[in-house]
Amino acid sequence: MYTIAFSNEKGGVAKTTTTVSLGACLAEAGRKVLAVDLDPQANLTLALGVEPTRVVHSTASILLHDLPLRQAILPSSVSNLDLIPGSSETSQSERYLPVRERYEYLLRDAFQQAALQYDFVLMDCPPALGSVTLNALVASNLLLIPTQAEFFSIYALKNLMNWVRRIRSEYNPHLTYRLLLTLFDRRNRIHRLLSEQLRSNFNNGVLETVIEVDTKLRESPIAGAPIIFHAPKSRAAAQYRALAQEIIAYVEKANLQPA
Ligand code: ADP
Ligand code: MG
Repeated sequence: MYTIAFSNEKGGVAKTTTTVSLGACLAEAGRKVLAVDLDPQANLTLALGVEPTRVVHSTASILLHDLPLRQAILPSSVSNLDLIPGSSETSQSERYLPVRERYEYLLRDAFQQAALQYDFVLMDCPPALGSVTLNALVASNLLLIPTQAEFFSIYALKNLMNWVRRIRSEYNPHLTYRLLLTLFDRRNRIHRLLSEQLRSNFNNGVLETVIEVDTKLRESPIAGAPIIFHAPKSRAAAQYRALAQEIIAYVEKANLQPA
């Protein structure tokens, strides 16, 4: 089982879009996937067709009330793809987690105890480097950082990289990371320039696949279906399928330690 956290301090960089779209593509490729909504906005939950206000057990139940993780798993509308939903209660986690003992390890321990049979666990994080994101990164093999090729986005990466170093040294020495360029506009000169700079600064830290701007991606949450069902022939669907293949190859090659 490989665990991937989707995190970036910045909002609106396609963390949730990437979690849903990649999750559906991995499922389509025959992998069993669990998507975990750690953001109180519960956009991942909504995008997978579950109404957050009707959720009984959410990620908050696991983090704050020690609910066994299996009890919070729901099937989604996509076969091979299950969900641990978020709810408004998830916002309490950020605040109350740090008073719990060994709070950094609660999610990792919950996964270990549940002994799940998934190939991939994908965790959609809130846009903050707080106690919830810390839990996700401690429980992860891979941190996937969606980022735009914009100056402010790239500037924000500095802080995230410092965080990764701290987490590696204090909690999770196996954590690796990869950057994913999202919302890319190939006609935009700044995008082209900054993406080249990113590749020369981070070398193989940047994934080959690039996700370009595609309006179909904005429509798919409204339709309540991941892009490969909403617009199977769109450019975005093709790019997320390519991303799934790249991630599968990466994970097989890296031979990551199971979480
Ligand atoms: P985050 O979870 O990082 O806050 P979202 O996944 O919610 O970001 O994406 C922010 C907005 O951008 C959403 O309205 C989403 O539909 C839109 N979006 C994401 N990726 C793309 C893309 N490649 N092309 C066009 N719109 C996109
Ligand atoms: Mg989001």
